[in-house]
Amino acid sequence: MEKKEKKVYQRHFMLKGWAQELIKDSSVFMIGVGALGCEIAKNLALVGIGRMVLVDVDTIETSNLSRQMLFKPGDEGRPKAEVAAERLKELNPFLKVETYFKFLQEIPLSVYESCDVIIGGLDNIKARLDLNDICLRLKKPLIDSGTLGFEGHVQIVIPDGIPGMESTPCLRCVMPVPPTDEKMVAACTPKGIPQKREHCALKAEYDFGKEFNRRPDFDNDEDVRFLTERANKYVKEHNFPPEFRFEDMENVIKNKMPAIQTTTAVISAVQSHEVLKLLHLLKGENIGPIIKPPYINYNGVYGLFEYIDIAKWEECPACGHGTDIRTIEVSRNENISMLFDGVMSAYEGLEVDIDQSLVTKELTKTPIWNPYLPSHEEDKRKTMGELIGHMDILILTRPKQDPVRVLVKFID
Ligand SMILES: [Zn+2]
Repeated sequence: MEKKEKKVYQRHFMLKGWAQELIKDSSVFMIGVGALGCEIAKNLALVGIGRMVLVDVDTIETSNLSRQMLFKPGDEGRPKAEVAAERLKELNPFLKVETYFKFLQEIPLSVYESCDVIIGGLDNIKARLDLNDICLRLKKPLIDSGTLGFEGHVQIVIPDGIPGMESTPCLRCVMPVPPTDEKMVAACTPKGIPQKREHCALKAEYDFGKEFNRRPDFDNDEDVRFLTERANKYVKEHNFPPEFRFEDMENVIKNKMPAIQTTTAVISAVQSHEVLKLLHLLKGENIGPIIKPPYINYNGVYGLFEYIDIAKWEECPACGHGTDIRTIEVSRNENISMLFDGVMSAYEGLEVDIDQSLVTKELTKTPIWNPYLPSHEEDKRKTMGELIGHMDILILTRPKQDPVRVLVKFID
């Protein structure tokens, strides 16, 4: 570390157990650069983390500016991760940042593997559960969080098999059944009868699409006026008072949750600090243990922190006995038939017929083998390295039998 850089962190050197070089040598993977993500990235950039990978599929919206401090008026429409990277480098010129304008399921696993800790700042359950599964598979610690209005929580997931660390329950242990997606329920509504007030707004959005053959633009007052009037027509017809206000429409239709900067700041600070403790522990140093139990809840109405004593779910499909998955080792240069041989030896006595089984990647649902398509002759000539990636989980679907899951490791 250069003398000038050391000077920046001179107050850190007074902290008991603190290792600045260790922090500089660390890489973190941040998924979601929204309200929580901006705050965590800012904290970690300031303390001198060496490398950050930022992932977000969103672009900046005006309503982000009340909470997402790396963005300024005028940034609207630009990818969040890209703008965040520019601002973080202004805060810390020594920082290396990589950005991805992609879904987390599309990021090569080698990028996850290149990081020490994975940090979740996501706002949807499906993405958080997928991230949970990736971390368990790669044996990378995950620090996840969420906020809702004046409340928030942080959960730490330590997968089995990290030297010197005790494993913890995972996200699926805590929320085994993903909650119903309101949008999905409401998708049945457009032609039918609204079941609740929000459905009236979704029905109005559906009408808008039919009438104008495009999606409503929430920055266009005419569009929003149409939606408000149409939604309120349904509110009256089906008796779901009170009527919607003009400014309610975007929040209701986009299914936005209440959020405020203060809650975000508290939760992201707890989360960032747990990252720093974890990085020290993973590298044989100690500035304190991670929270135990590894789940903390914050209630801003009463200024209350509470630990929640979460437990491992024995049948958890991600980390428990419910995980029926075998690992097979193959060479990148072999072809698909070796995969089937590998599966049969991993599951002794199991019969899988290459000409009758389909193979899909679990995470992206991408088909990689389909013997019923003409292209399969060509796929048969491809190498495994061309068809799949290291540490991919594959699902083999066979006629009239249960599907089989395998984790593929390349040996070369
Ligand atoms: Zn679990």
